[in-house]
Amino acid sequence: MANKIRVTIWNEFRHEKNEGSLAQKYYPNGIHAQIKSFLDECDDLEVRLACLDDPDQGIPNEVLDNTDVLMWWGHCYHSDVRDDRVEYIRHRVYQGGMGFVACHSAHESKPFKAIVGTSGALSWGDEYPEIMWNLKPSHPIAAGVPDHFDLELEELYAEPFYIPDPDDLIFAGWYPTGHIFRAGATYTRGMGRVFYFQPGHESCPSFHNPNVQQVLKNGVHWCAPTKPGYDVPQGCPYIKPIYGEWPKNED
Ligand code: ZN
Repeated sequence: MANKIRVTIWNEFRHEKNEGSLAQKYYPNGIHAQIKSFLDECDDLEVRLACLDDPDQGIPNEVLDNTDVLMWWGHCYHSDVRDDRVEYIRHRVYQGGMGFVACHSAHESKPFKAIVGTSGALSWGDEYPEIMWNLKPSHPIAAGVPDHFDLELEELYAEPFYIPDPDDLIFAGWYPTGHIFRAGATYTRGMGRVFYFQPGHESCPSFHNPNVQQVLKNGVHWCAPTKPGYDVPQGCPYIKPIYGEWPKNED
């Protein structure tokens, strides 16, 4: 298919290397590889992988310039991500129209905070069963997703979640502890679209859940640039009047 959506899945990829960990059990090849395995079911997506320990942290300018949607999973090493990479990601979203999908603990990643404008802070606790409620079935990201679905175990993420009011709040999580969480939210920033989705703790099997997979497939498609190839230079261009001649200020 021509003009495939070029997706880069970025993963910290350190938890999964811990011998005997649940992260390694559920994601032996990494969370990013598991996400790729179901995104590859969409023949209009061209998916590549990038990791923190790759050269240039997996996201040199050439990669970002050829990425339509960047997915991000990070947790313990947010501060290791280079600020010049974060700044270029933000540029690509705001001025290039690149989409950004933030998974789970990416709520506190440098790119999510820089793009959306938030501290990323939230309340959290142990792992519990979660019911994911579909609040906006008419939204493209909710297509094919039931009115609610169960996650057998997820990390408790709860309000208050210090995000700006989303453009659309599509999913909310409920836990038997009584807590609730705005679990699926969208933003538009500059030319780009952003989707945050909460499931995906490294020691929980949520990326194997068919409904989570459906939401992320939808999220990638929704975040794809609405104007493919659109890009403008970084910085503030000098402009001249569009109409007419104007008097000059003489010294
Ligand atoms: Zn987590």
